Amino acid sequence: MSHTLDIAKINANATTQNGVLGAAVAETTPENSAEATPEATEAATKTTLPNLVGMPREALKTILSELGIADKAIKMRTAQIWHWLYIAGVTDYTEMRNVNKDLRQKLAENYSIERPEIVEEQISVDGTRKWLMRMPKLAGDAVGHEVECVYIPEQTRGTLCVSSQVGCTLSCTFCHTGTQRMVRNLTSQEIIAQIMVARDRIGNWPSMERVKDQNLPQTGRMISNIVYMGMGEPLYNYEHVKNAINIMADGDGIALSRRRITLSTSGVVNFIEKIGEETGCMLAISLHSVKDDVRDILVPINKKFNLETLLEACRNYPGVSNARRITFEYVMLKDINDSIDDAKQLVALLKGIPAKINLIPFNPWPGSEYECSDWEQIEKFAEVINRAGYASPIRTPRGRDIMAACGQLKSASKISKKVRAK
Ligand code: SAH
Ligand code: SF4
Repeated sequence: MSHTLDIAKINANATTQNGVLGAAVAETTPENSAEATPEATEAATKTTLPNLVGMPREALKTILSELGIADKAIKMRTAQIWHWLYIAGVTDYTEMRNVNKDLRQKLAENYSIERPEIVEEQISVDGTRKWLMRMPKLAGDAVGHEVECVYIPEQTRGTLCVSSQVGCTLSCTFCHTGTQRMVRNLTSQEIIAQIMVARDRIGNWPSMERVKDQNLPQTGRMISNIVYMGMGEPLYNYEHVKNAINIMADGDGIALSRRRITLSTSGVVNFIEKIGEETGCMLAISLHSVKDDVRDILVPINKKFNLETLLEACRNYPGVSNARRITFEYVMLKDINDSIDDAKQLVALLKGIPAKINLIPFNPWPGSEYECSDWEQIEKFAEVINRAGYASPIRTPRGRDIMAACGQLKSASKISKKVRAK
């Protein structure tokens, strides 16, 4: 099978020691992306066929019906195509051997199954990998937008951190993505594409041999967990995020357990219960402070949905139990939210909610105004949390040297002047 990636542009072995900025990529703006040559002009104006990969199963059935497939054959054809896309990972219709030529041709004329272009691949000294991907242009895009996606391998598992938006509407003051203007939501296809690209790059298809790399998982699934902790606020892109979760969990395809798919939100309270009901995914809350006045500054959505409202939504999260706890993320910011009193209040605040606490050492980025708490203080803070019965609460930062750690992601994509003016 062929994985038709434009790997000429990949800086495949870009193992870096320090200071490589995720944001340090050439800016693609409408002004500089399509200059001079007729080829470049054509490429810039070319409309992209909708991608079949990442389209909900029901949508695929409708497409097949529109292409003239008889009702009684639709289920079988859908199953065949689903298999080729998600089990085999093909990027060329000719490889769908049990799908007849006529249907393959019709599909190819109307729908793409290609991957996004990898603009840059970086591999951290700790094995973490980060890809900057350029999505094919959709209607309304002046250029192909870029997003980052991070793979965090461990010995027996691997976590893929996906983006849900290009940029973010919210502007949490400690987050790099928050400094990038919201460009647009990603489609479910563009969310699923991140998984496909990751599988291509780590050699995770049945036709590929398991790569012997001690930094990759030695046993178990290479991508065992997905977290929506990349760029963007997933609950502000509800439909596409929901559809993508349901595709990730589809037992005939990617087949990830819903308990291994975690959605992290800054606290978009009005969609919390709904996403739990409609996907059964795990929930992570970016809490970061126990005081409304501090949280108003750190996570400004708190002005709309305060701590009390947020915690009430957590108590009501469908399926929440000691076996299915909510993760509370708490970034450690020196002299802002890291006092022992804060730790005690945190324990008191979460009383009665089946919870895990994740203390995240603040990951700095160029221009950030905060400092990470001293290690000694993080340990003291963690001790209070530990004593209250929460196990191993400190999250080890991964991929800091390639700016792949929590909150360090950002791309150079900008909203075009034309779209902004609307
Ligand atoms: N928008 C969602 C998901 C993406 S952010 C959310 O806010 O939850 C993923 C996690 O990284 C969040 O908990 C976020 O608060 C945290 N984060 C953001 N910037 C960070 C930074 N500089 N250092 C450490 N964690 C950060
Ligand atoms: Fe957006 Fe999450 Fe960053 Fe806040 S922390 S700006 S919600 S990506």
